[in-house]
Amino acid sequence: MIRRNHVIFTLIASAALVCSENSTMANLKVLVSSKDFPESGLKILREHFTVLQTQHLNFGEEGKTQNYEELLKLIPGCTALVWLSHHPITNELLDKAGPNLKMVATVSAGYNHCNVDELKARGIKLSNTPDVLSAAVAELAVSLMLGAARRFTENLEQVRSGKWEIGFDVVLGQEIRGSTVGIIGFGGIGQAVAKRLSGFDVNKFLYTGHREKPEAKALGAEFVSLDNLLAQSDFILLAVPLTNETKLMINQTTLGKMKQNAILINVGRGDLVDQDALYEALKNKKIYAAGLDVTTPEPLPKDHKLLSLPNVFILPHIGSATVRTRSDMGVLAARNVVQALSGKPLITPVLP
Ligand code: NAP
Repeated sequence: MIRRNHVIFTLIASAALVCSENSTMANLKVLVSSKDFPESGLKILREHFTVLQTQHLNFGEEGKTQNYEELLKLIPGCTALVWLSHHPITNELLDKAGPNLKMVATVSAGYNHCNVDELKARGIKLSNTPDVLSAAVAELAVSLMLGAARRFTENLEQVRSGKWEIGFDVVLGQEIRGSTVGIIGFGGIGQAVAKRLSGFDVNKFLYTGHREKPEAKALGAEFVSLDNLLAQSDFILLAVPLTNETKLMINQTTLGKMKQNAILINVGRGDLVDQDALYEALKNKKIYAAGLDVTTPEPLPKDHKLLSLPNVFILPHIGSATVRTRSDMGVLAARNVVQALSGKPLITPVLP
């Protein structure tokens, strides 16, 4: 009897503890920085916390003041910030948040906009959303390869203008078949691209980075120096994070080491590439073409000189923009917040 009472008491006590933990969690405020955060992620956040959400989209040039002011107004006292923008998280915003802020979840794989040193100094955890987006970004990278190699920009222009160049040997492009594909940044996205290209009869995969990757063997990819990759590749894919080391890594010098038929693909970040040097290389046919999902700035002004070139195929940073992937990113970001605020390890930590 005594033992039974003890068990009942323990159960009641632990239920009360869970309830009080839950109600404490429910009082925690989480700020979501854009009104278009996926419902799948919001649902998880709402189950645990008090969710504040701005009424605006990610701030672009025009929306900047409105959304930023709103963020400054909403953030005081928040415990977590879910960040959907590639705009920097400013010190002003962190100051406004105050000491309650324990966690930032950026809804992106890249975190170059997150001011990692500052977050670290303030003891704030940071998570990102890698892996769940690799497939979507890799599909887009393959699209860019095809789009640039088969001259989509010129060909689309012909269709739009009704001025088709008819002929057996006009607007001829290049093939992925038989080519050497060089991947700079053989991580989640880089490897997903190699997997997706397995049916394209690629002749050789090369990759470069700080160290050899164990997954490379199964993918038939060879580890080489950057110079070697630049000199051999017909397609050069940038899938590296933007860091002090990688900033402007594609410049006049590195472009000069590429083959004349080389096609540069960038799904990393705009600042990996010196765009003036790229413009000159494309204009003077030092390389064949470029396919870019990312540019500097974003949006790229419509009168930007790169857009005057026929041999560049540019998309507006849509690498992860599919219904499924954006939803998965939302869920992962929300789960990271739940983990952090319940004292458990982050699923995808940048700052654990
Ligand atoms: P990841 O899994 O961390 O892979 C990045 C790889 O880059 C790592 O394997 C790393 O390996 C390598 N690396 C780092 N510095 C390098 C250098 N100097 N030279 C060559 N390789 C280097 O990241 P991910 O998920 O593939 O994403 C990569 C980047 O893509 C992100 O940081 C983000 O900027 C961008 N991205 C863009 C989109 C889009 O919408 N376009 C979407 C998602 C991500 P080692 O350090 O061992 O070399």
